[in-house]
Amino acid sequence: MKTYLERILPLKWLDSFFYDDINLSSFTTYSIGGKPLGVFILKNHIDYIKLLNKLNTKLPYRIIGKGSNLLINDERVEFFILTGKYRSIYFFEDEKVIRVFTTPFTELQYFIRKLISKGIGGYEELAAIPASVGGAVFNNAGAKNVEISMYLKKVTFFDRIKKTVRTIEVDKSFFSYRNSFFKEECFNKGFYIDFLSFVFEFPKSNLSNPDLLKAKYDEVWKKRMITQPLNEKSCGSVFKNLP
Ligand SMILES: Cc1cc2nc3c(=O)[nH]c(=O)nc-3n(C[C@H](O)[C@H](O)[C@H](O)COP(=O)(O)OP(=O)(O)OC[C@H]3O[C@@H](n4cnc5c(N)ncnc54)[C@H](O)[C@@H]3O)c2cc1C
Repeated sequence: MKTYLERILPLKWLDSFFYDDINLSSFTTYSIGGKPLGVFILKNHIDYIKLLNKLNTKLPYRIIGKGSNLLINDERVEFFILTGKYRSIYFFEDEKVIRVFTTPFTELQYFIRKLISKGIGGYEELAAIPASVGGAVFNNAGAKNVEISMYLKKVTFFDRIKKTVRTIEVDKSFFSYRNSFFKEECFNKGFYIDFLSFVFEFPKSNLSNPDLLKAKYDEVWKKRMITQPLNEKSCGSVFKNLP
């Protein structure tokens, strides 16, 4: 007997994993969420793009990153879920700036540690925030006076409404406290923005000794572990810090 999905999609072209019998509670830090129509766990960016192409016209779906900012119904969830287990980061440099290209399922902490290893400072205050880069951009994740949007320059996404890939240059006007243009758009018009990649741009003045940056990052991490232990079920702080 073929599953619903097999009847709709030929899955042979996909190298990633698909589960049609799994609860979303395994994918959220709150450990809540019922059974969706199915979950795709993507192994690489090519599968992600191929799948977006197929799903767009045929099936309802939502994308999740680390699931650390989601409250999902414990009943049956009437859409498919896409999430990714791959990372990509590339560095480009000219005489003034360092540009960093990354993809949305890259874990925020992996991203920051890679920057630090290259001596690129700026995001140490975001140590231990459990996020994917995509989820962090969606929410404009931040701590103290640092927000992910600070060094973000370009966002490339699949626009489900226009059925096209778009790249936009972003600036401060796209973001506010724990909020973004992308989040507003999705809440107002329905989920139609699927992040594909990001370009961050750091001035060379951000370059510093990697050991010093790492020491600062570790210190922030330690402080957070005392107030927000990552191994406990949580969706983080539900209070807004005044901007
Ligand atoms: C212990 C703990 C501590 C926290 N501390 C902080 C903190 O200090 N500061 C802070 O700002 N937040 C904090 N948070 C909240 C949370 O980590 C952030 O909101 C984070 O940005 C969520 O990222 P995520 O990858 O988990 O997103 P998810 O929760 O998986 O998704 C959030 C939204 O982003 C969308 N999204 C994700 N990926 C994509 C994609 N590829 N394309 C399109 N849309 C996408 C989803 O559809 C969803 O609507 C904390 C949470 C926990 C559990």
